[in-house]
Amino acid sequence: MKRNSSVKSIRSVRNLKGKRVILRASLNVPIKNGVIQNDYRIRSIIPTLRFLKDKGAKTIVLSHLGSDGTKSLRDVARYMNKYIRTGFLPEHDIDKNKHLIDSMNNGGVFVLENIRRNPGELANSKILAKQIAKYGDIFVNDDFAVSHRKHASVDAITKVLPSYIGLEFEKELNSFSKVFKPQKPFVIILGGAKFETKLPLVKEFLKKADSIFIVGALANSFFRELGYEVGKSLVDNKNLGLKKLATNKKIILPKDVVVKNKKGVFVKKFNGVNKSDVILDNGPETVLEIKEKVREAKMILWNGPLGKFEDGFIDSTEEVAKAVSRSKAYSVVGGGDSVSAISKLKLLKKFNFVSTGGGAMLDYLADKTIPGLEALKKSINK
Ligand code: ADP
Ligand code: MG
Repeated sequence: MKRNSSVKSIRSVRNLKGKRVILRASLNVPIKNGVIQNDYRIRSIIPTLRFLKDKGAKTIVLSHLGSDGTKSLRDVARYMNKYIRTGFLPEHDIDKNKHLIDSMNNGGVFVLENIRRNPGELANSKILAKQIAKYGDIFVNDDFAVSHRKHASVDAITKVLPSYIGLEFEKELNSFSKVFKPQKPFVIILGGAKFETKLPLVKEFLKKADSIFIVGALANSFFRELGYEVGKSLVDNKNLGLKKLATNKKIILPKDVVVKNKKGVFVKKFNGVNKSDVILDNGPETVLEIKEKVREAKMILWNGPLGKFEDGFIDSTEEVAKAVSRSKAYSVVGGGDSVSAISKLKLLKKFNFVSTGGGAMLDYLADKTIPGLEALKKSINK
């Protein structure tokens, strides 16, 4: 395929024995008081780690945890031992771990402390990239989920080390290639929040999709721009020009919503919301309409929960997840919160593909590439 023809796969490296591999991986998992809430991203990287171990490589894993550098990857590294023997490099300054790295055996795996503790990471610093590169012979990007960002361990590093794409990243691209050439009917379910980040995808897929359901808090923004009362619900405050989009027949908005007010929790028609209401989920009529389309679909793409599932408003998300899992369609789901919700429901295995990416998936689908992939294409091993 032309799209990634110039990206070299880690599979193409002839002799990995004793080679020092710097591996960018997605260990950015939801974690509370040191307890991992769902380990989907960790499990996704294990095949690559086993592959490198079996080939006798020495692997140093780079990742971030949380948006700034405050969290430690120590508990994550410890947890990984459940799947593969993993050590931890506790200093964020890689030079200070030299003695541990020097003692590594072939097949060894170490996780470096949260790379975002180093300010050079977000700044895409070449100095940081060079510092890390001293400890590696090659670089492998297997972190699709961060690859919409031009950070040092995604971009700058590809300019100082021969760079390859990892197994998980390749898997993501293969699954998305099916979304780009969808079997019909093709149904998109888009929920969650922050419409601004999701609008480019809607625009890109208006032609290809047969139905695009706009649900969750995204629908609130639509309702507001269409002039309906949304009470105290979560909305985007910017005007995104949704009025025009709403006239497109493929765009389907919720028929009913679940609201909470002082008196309790109620199902209301989308146009019957009061000033004191907070919309927290979609209603049964909406779910029924989604189910009908899902039943006939051959391809389903889903991002964003239908309700505020963390606070117990998970019913419509659960109904839709069950419907998708029963459907014969090829189903793709992504987004940190979506994966958390579906993992909570124990339905992750029922999807054909679960992306590790949230923002990366949205950007990749809208633009057909992401900066991390472009960096691999331009890496110095070409
Ligand atoms: P993802 O991470 O899967 O891409 P988002 O980050 O876009 O999803 O959105 C997830 C958030 O949206 C969750 O915190 C969820 O509770 C919230 N959400 C979804 N529907 C509603 C709603 N109707 N009201 C308030 N919050 C909602
Ligand atoms: Mg999210």
